[in-house]
Amino acid sequence: MKLSVKSGRIVMGRLQKGDDLLISLQKICSDQRIMLGDVRALGAVQKARIGYYDQDGREYHFFNREEHLELLSLVGNVSIREGKPFLHLHVTFANDRGECFGGHLAEGTEVFACEFTITEFSSDTAFERSHDDETGLFLWK
Ligand code: ZN
Repeated sequence: MKLSVKSGRIVMGRLQKGDDLLISLQKICSDQRIMLGDVRALGAVQKARIGYYDQDGREYHFFNREEHLELLSLVGNVSIREGKPFLHLHVTFANDRGECFGGHLAEGTEVFACEFTITEFSSDTAFERSHDDETGLFLWK
């Protein structure tokens, strides 16, 4: 699937210390009625919860990191799942030795500081997620 989209509004700001990274960005998209777009952020977190998709087992495995980390990069998108804006976000973190790891952002990642940019897109075709039998994931058609 490949469609052209047009850039619209850009919403830029920062999250508060103690916010849940995923829930807060989801709320901004819901409040701003952003149904399609690109999400980027950077900053630091007080703890992290990340998922890894087991392609053979077809399920996410989640793990926690209970330490202060740099949020080097958050990239992802907003599209529609079950009629609501759904954010799919991946993160790269670094520890106090500059060692990196990352994965699929899950609820439970607590912000220390975070600066984000959300670019809204418009498209003639809705980007709606539905279950994909081949991967077990909810993907665009
Ligand atoms: Zn993912």
